[in-house]
Formats: sequence, C-alpha cells, structure tokens
Amino acid sequence: MAETEFDVIVIGAGPGGYVAAIRAAQLGLKTACVESRETLGGTCLNVGCIPSKALLHASELFEEANHGTLAKWGVKVGNVELDLDAMHAGRKEAVGGLTKGIEFLFKKNKVTWLKGQGRFTAKDRLDVAGTEYSAKNFVIATGSSVTPLPGVEIDQERIVDSTGALELQKVPGHLVVIGGGVIGLELGSVWKRLGARVTVVEFLDQILPGMDGEVRKEANKIFKKQGFEFRLSTKVTGAERTRDGISLTVEPAAGGAAETIEADVVLVSIGRRPNTDGLGLEAAGLQVNKRGQIEVDHDFRTAVPGIYAIGDVTPGPMLAHKAEDEGVAVAEILAGQVGIVNHDVIPSVVYTFPEIAGVGLTEEQAKEQGEIKVGKFPMMANSRAKTNRETDGFVKIVADARSDRVLGVWMIASVAGTMIAQAAQAMEFGATSEDIAYTCHAHPTHSEAVKEAAMAVTGKPIHF
Ligand code: FAD
Ligand code: NAD
Repeated sequence: MAETEFDVIVIGAGPGGYVAAIRAAQLGLKTACVESRETLGGTCLNVGCIPSKALLHASELFEEANHGTLAKWGVKVGNVELDLDAMHAGRKEAVGGLTKGIEFLFKKNKVTWLKGQGRFTAKDRLDVAGTEYSAKNFVIATGSSVTPLPGVEIDQERIVDSTGALELQKVPGHLVVIGGGVIGLELGSVWKRLGARVTVVEFLDQILPGMDGEVRKEANKIFKKQGFEFRLSTKVTGAERTRDGISLTVEPAAGGAAETIEADVVLVSIGRRPNTDGLGLEAAGLQVNKRGQIEVDHDFRTAVPGIYAIGDVTPGPMLAHKAEDEGVAVAEILAGQVGIVNHDVIPSVVYTFPEIAGVGLTEEQAKEQGEIKVGKFPMMANSRAKTNRETDGFVKIVADARSDRVLGVWMIASVAGTMIAQAAQAMEFGATSEDIAYTCHAHPTHSEAVKEAAMAVTGKPIHF
C-alpha cells in the first residue's frame, strides 16, 4: 500500500477519533488519524473534561482550606492564599501529560498522525495540508465547538467561552454565566470557590435540562445554598462593554421589561454545535441534518458507503465516553467484527460538589412509557456520607412496575460520578431493583445508598 493509502482514515483525534484509530490499528488495519490541533486528545483533553476537572479539583481543595472545612476536621492550615498561577500550571501539566500520552499510544500502535485540516475532495479522498490521501473507509470524528450567542461576542477576556473560562488570569468579582447547563455549573463552581460572585442566567425554568426533574430541582436548591444566584426563565438580549466590564441586557424568556446586569466577566455556555465547516462534505456527497449533525445508522454508517461518523458530530449526548465507546465499536465493525454501543445506557455526570449523575430514563420519561415504581434514599441516612459530612443529595431508582427491571438511576452525592458506574453496569446486565438490593455492598460506602434506594423500590430500606 502506498504511503498515502490507508485501510482507515479517522478525521479528528478527540476521544472518539483517537480511540477509533488506536482500536483499528490494534485490529491490524493500516490507520491514519488527521488532527489540526497542535496536540492530540481533542476538546476533552485539551480544553474540556481534563482541564476543567483539574481546576474543579484544585478549587475544591482551596475552598476546603479557605472556608474552614479542613479546620473543622482538626486540620489547621493557617493563612490560606490563592496562587492562581500554580493552579493553572497544575491544569496545564495534567493536559500536557495526557495529550503527550496519546501521541505515545499512536506511536506504540503504529497510527500515523496526519497533521492538518482534513477536507474531502471526493467520497474516497481527503486532502490534508496539500497532500491527497485515500482509504477504504473514513471515520468522521470532528467533534463540536461552542455555540455562539449573537449580540454577546466572545473576546476571551471579558466575554469568554469555556476555553477562556479555563484561562482567566484573575478571579472575577462578578461572573455571569449564560446557560445553566453542565459547563455553566462546573466552571461557575470553579470561580465561585475561588471567590467570585456567580449569577447564572438560564432561558428555561430550571437548570440542567435533560436530567431527572427532581434532581434538577434539588441541585438548584443545593447550588443556591452554596451562594449561586439564578435568573431562571430569563434571556440575554445583548451585551455592552463598559469601562470596567460588561453590561448585560436581560429580559423574561416569555417577554417583558428589560433590565441590566453588570458583570466583570461573562461566560457563554449555551451548548455546543457539530464541527463540519471546511470538511468538504459536499465533495463527499454528505449532508448534515437541521442541527448540523451527521446522521448515522446503528453501525455508525453515514448515507455514503465507506464513510462513518462518531462522537459529538453525530446525534446523541455530547460526552467523551459516548464518543470513546463509539470509537471502539466503529473500529471493530471496520475490522469485520461486531461493534455495539447501547445508547440507552450512557451515564452522564456533572462534576460539581456534590456531583450529579444519571443513567437511563428520567422518572418523567419512564412514566410516559408505562407504570413504574420509584425507590429513593437520602445521602443524609448513609453512614459514610454522614461521617464525611457530605449529606446533600439522594439516590433514586426508577424500575418497571411489572418486571422490576431498572429503567433509570439518578443521584446527587459527593461521589455520584463514581457511584453511577455500578448503576450503568447493572442496567447493561438487565438488572432488576431486587438484583441490586440483594447485592452485597461494602460498608461503609456511599454506594450503599444505591442498594438502599433499590430496597426502597419495594418499600423496605433498612436505614431510613
Ligand atoms: P472532540 O473532542 O471535539 O475532538 C474533535 C477533534 O477533531 C478536535 O481536536 C478538532 O481539532 C479535530 N478536527 C475537527 N475538524 C477537523 C478537520 N477537518 N481536520 C482535522 N481535525 C479536525 N464530556 C464528558 O464526558 N465528561 C466531561 O467531564 C466533560 N467535560 C467537558 C468540559 C468542557 C469545558 C467541554 C467544552 C466539554 C466537556 N465534555 C465532557 C464534552 C467532551 O469534551 C466531548 O463530548 C468530547 O470531546 C467529544 O469527543 P469527539 O471525539 O467527538 O470530539
Ligand atoms: P448544555 O446543553 O448542557 O446547557 C446549555 C444551557 O444553556 C441549557 O440549560 C439551555 O437551556 C441554556 N440556554 C441556551 N440558550 C440560552 C440563552 N440564549 N440564554 C440563556 N440560557 C440559554 O450546554 P453546555 O453547558 O454549553 O455544555 C455543552 C456540552 O458539553 C453538553 O452537551 C455537555 O454534555 C458537554 N459537557 C459535558 C460535561 C460533563 O459531562 N461533565 C461537562 C461539560 C460539558
């Protein structure tokens, strides 16, 4: 095979693309991965999951020391000072280590990195930096970028997107977050813990759309208790730069009198949109749907034979682990194996404190499908959470009333992001709530709340 010919060319080296490329190479396919960024790992490793979690972790440590949580445990730390430069250095170190790690994995697995922007010139040809490449199959994994808000132009100083919000060189006095979704609450939490006043302006009547209704309501209550200010059912209609900051004009979502909110920094986090600009989709004979996504079938096939798509550029939740699992599955399909992703069981986690997590159907969605039973257990009654003084939240299990099969699990708990894995695994194995209730859980762990919520489905938790 010529150097410019491959079995598979993957476009984009985010969690979808780099995983697909590594798996394809592991399965013996001659594989290249095209990436236009200087480093591999896509949004997630460079400007998403990893740097945000580094700052969430660091800011939590700062808050524990600064607000006397450590002192209450008998750990006296004296005068607490914020060294924001050191915090940013820690974030960069995490990103650098992991993105270099992908480069190492590419070398180890013999994946060729084609550096530059990939653009289809035909359905079986791709131009990268002036060279034309061909492949038996292509996988589009070009990911997503921030959705802009007209009238609130991002300058990455006063008006920032998530990337700018990870890089702020000073703690803003007043941070106004537009959009009460995952990014707004995670990055809002970072700057709140470091001392900013944070106001969240949300178009809908509740934060965290897509999550279970009770979880959304309870999360709102917890964040308010932490000092977040919420302006729900409110839309931003414009932003004006003032001498010291930004004057935002807002009005009720349903229409009504406008007012202004003064901010030092504004974070625009109203969602993300698929990346297809400049990809030459027309030359490949591909179209996007109304939401700009590339539609695929169950096997990630697009409308054009030989072209597949995975991750944020396709419909479904925009999550790194969804993209990764699709990466593995598509590579296995291309290697002639069976590759499957169960899209009904994709967990989602908000890494605030406490964490918020869910998998499967919300109670509202499950009710629409038929009769259900619900079991709930408060973290207040979980011995480990109580010992650790992390009593906010609950676990809720939604099961089919007749078969008892678990349809969805939702939780707010300090370590919900870790606890949700057992729920996903149980659902993947088709568990009933009784299966979970009769599984021995180690004591004392937060996970015992999952067992007790399962017991509550039939009305008999022990500790509540
Ligand atoms: P991306 O990661 O977006 O990667 C696509 C890559 O393709 C990019 O590197 C891009 O440069 C490249 N590319 C695009 N077009 C071309 C082209 N034509 N030629 C060459 N290269 C191209 N998800 C989670 O599950 N957990 C989290 O905690 C989490 N935190 C997040 C925090 C933030 C602040 C953000 C913004 C996102 C977060 N996400 C999180 C979402 C997660 O980052 C995405 O779902 C995930 O990165 C999608 O993976 P992907 O491979 O589809 O695309
Ligand atoms: P999101 O969809 O989670 O939230 C956007 C919010 O903005 C919604 O509540 C929406 O109602 C609101 N909104 C939309 N237009 C508005 C307007 N004009 N004014 C006020 N509010 C408005 O989007 P996001 O927070 O930007 O995150 C983007 C994607 O990144 C998400 O799909 C998410 O899955 C992913 N992400 C995941 C994680 C994680 O898994 N922990 C973390 C960060 C980002």
